[in-house]
Amino acid sequence: MPEPLLPSGCGRSYGDSGLNADGALIDATGLDRFIELGDDGLLRCEAGVTLAEILDLVVPRGWCLPVVPGTRWVTVGGAIANDIHGKNHHHLGTFGTHVTRLELVRSSGERMVCTAEANPELFAATIGGLGLTGLILWAEIRLQRVAGPGIEEERIRFEGLDQFLAIAAEDAQHEYTVAWVDCLRRGRRLGRGVYFRGAHGARPSGWRPLAVEPRVRVPCDAPSALLNRLTISAFNALNYGRAPRKRSLRAVEFGSFFFPLDAIGDWNRLYGRRGFVQYQCVVPEAAREAIREILERVSGSREVAGLGVLKRFGDRRSPGVLSFPRPGLTLAVDLALRGRATLGLLEELDGVVRQVGGAVYPAKDARMSGESFRAFFPAWATFARQMDPRFSSSFWRRVSGS
Ligand SMILES: Cc1cc2nc3c(=O)[nH]c(=O)nc-3n(C[C@H](O)[C@H](O)[C@H](O)COP(=O)(O)OP(=O)(O)OC[C@H]3O[C@@H](n4cnc5c(N)ncnc54)[C@H](O)[C@@H]3O)c2cc1C
Repeated sequence: MPEPLLPSGCGRSYGDSGLNADGALIDATGLDRFIELGDDGLLRCEAGVTLAEILDLVVPRGWCLPVVPGTRWVTVGGAIANDIHGKNHHHLGTFGTHVTRLELVRSSGERMVCTAEANPELFAATIGGLGLTGLILWAEIRLQRVAGPGIEEERIRFEGLDQFLAIAAEDAQHEYTVAWVDCLRRGRRLGRGVYFRGAHGARPSGWRPLAVEPRVRVPCDAPSALLNRLTISAFNALNYGRAPRKRSLRAVEFGSFFFPLDAIGDWNRLYGRRGFVQYQCVVPEAAREAIREILERVSGSREVAGLGVLKRFGDRRSPGVLSFPRPGLTLAVDLALRGRATLGLLEELDGVVRQVGGAVYPAKDARMSGESFRAFFPAWATFARQMDPRFSSSFWRRVSGS
């Protein structure tokens, strides 16, 4: 088998932390068995089980995963390796916060059960460890009790960043919060968007299974002319206009609140053959002006910026040595890939984030420099000591120069 090795889940990471050019990927999706679900909500399953399969099992029983990302097609191993976050970070922190135990197999064949007490350094390195500490075989996750299989959703329009921050100040009273932002607006309307807040609640017709394929699928790569600043601006204006002027509450499906993109199979093809990049950063809240600067640079450029997502992360400490989430404001922007101009803009944005002590999310990256990585993740050398000597990834070789 070629080396180095790297585990692989559903392949939903946007960048190269899930890739291993010239090495071998270990497909972990065959580790797909549930092991135990206790009355106390402690779930043990193999690492290739998807979040969709878990939700289908536990939500009808009154439980929910404590943290879910923007897609249900993520394995437990992938969720741990990127220490993923969701719309309730301000409330429950990251996915890894709720992992009580896991078993790792190293390339030497040694199997190690890791917890906060047993092999704690390896445990902390594996959470958010980008698959580089070994193959996770199974994990134990503490689920949370929920009021029902649906979501009570509130939508609030905001005109710009200051209004966003005023609404975000109320986050503590809401289980889930996230905002959609128009990244093409400038001037007075810079950063305008729609704030979504939600809480678990009843859904009249029960639970609709998630582990099924989407009904609509993008059949081929769209022509590159389809998504441009004009069409996206029009789409954004429509989206903004559709949100009610006054705060409004409605009951929605679990899937449409958490996983709107999953409704469209192969949605990435809308960006055409050259594809897109997603840029996600976090900056300390005191440096909120950095978010304004990033939005100004994106909207003032000629880049085709699609969906933007803005959220306040809470203060709960992430358990992983390399975990991305930290207190502050996180912004994620999709940009059609137009070659050097796009990459040049992202390099500029890295500079803004570095200056204020923020970080860029490795799960969404395929281009950050080693210098930026070391500034964003100062504990990288501590992490490197826990790596499996025969594991590596394209991302790791790029940022570590090894
Ligand atoms: C539409 C969409 C929305 C998203 N929304 C969010 C979001 O809201 N929040 C967020 O944090 N992320 C989000 N993501 C990113 C996604 O959650 C992460 O990239 C996640 O890690 C993908 O899991 P995967 O199973 O596809 O793993 P892969 O992408 O295949 O791999 C991810 C990493 O996990 C490692 N890995 C996989 N299996 C194992 C294993 N068994 N043992 C050890 N390591 C393993 C791999 O080596 C790799 O480093 C989103 C992605 C998409 C496409």
